[in-house]
Amino acid sequence: MLVGAGAGLSTAAGLTYSGARFCEHFSDFIEKYDFPDMYSGGFFPFPTEEERWAYWSRHIKINRYDPVPTPLYEQLLELLAEKDLFVLTTNVDHCFQRAGLPKERLFYAQGDYGLWQCSVPCHARTYDNEAQVRCMVAEQRNMRVPAELVPRCPICGAPMTMNLRADDTFVEDEGWHAAAARYQDFVRRHRGSRLILLELGVGGNTPVIIKFPFWRMAAENPHATYACVNLGEACAPAEIAERSVLLDASAADVVDALRG
Ligand SMILES: [Zn+2]
Repeated sequence: MLVGAGAGLSTAAGLTYSGARFCEHFSDFIEKYDFPDMYSGGFFPFPTEEERWAYWSRHIKINRYDPVPTPLYEQLLELLAEKDLFVLTTNVDHCFQRAGLPKERLFYAQGDYGLWQCSVPCHARTYDNEAQVRCMVAEQRNMRVPAELVPRCPICGAPMTMNLRADDTFVEDEGWHAAAARYQDFVRRHRGSRLILLELGVGGNTPVIIKFPFWRMAAENPHATYACVNLGEACAPAEIAERSVLLDASAADVVDALRG
């Protein structure tokens, strides 16, 4: 089984980017800048690095290091435990790995909140950020981290930035390339054989990563079944309609139902 997971899955697990959870952690930033949600906060051009990292350290901590609000990911992996499983995801919160999926079975195509890279970038390496992020959250005052906590590239001294695919400065490091190769290998090994393509909470923002390849794989492989779980956006092209299962539901409801 090949699982493709998008933002809707993490939302269903309680990692919501707006509403009460957003207000609870960012009331000061909301008051000052009037962000509508955490997506917007992530793209905001903060006037200083100190303020930028006060925002980002909180964002990373609550979405990458704090416990996920519900056990949805664990329950999903439990249901899929017997399967020859590989997961492709555009999510950068690493919830699958945190729920116990071996990293050999995961390709996190768009990056990882837990990694930093040089903003230039002058070299193609990434750096674990957990200890520094926790320190920034603890030490920040009035929406600023102390200047000495602003992360700098150890090679060129430029500010570090998130290892997230936003533009062509995204660093694809060794770990990323290894995961990409494992994904390609999984796809190659299952070409023409029985395969379930399970798409969970993939929205319309970046269909070229999961949705379109899944549709193409289903169209090219008569033994493949395309299953799409998506609240409000479950659809499939006509050419694979008879081998598609479309559930207009949230992943949380589907997992609940399957668990009985
Ligand atoms: Zn650098």
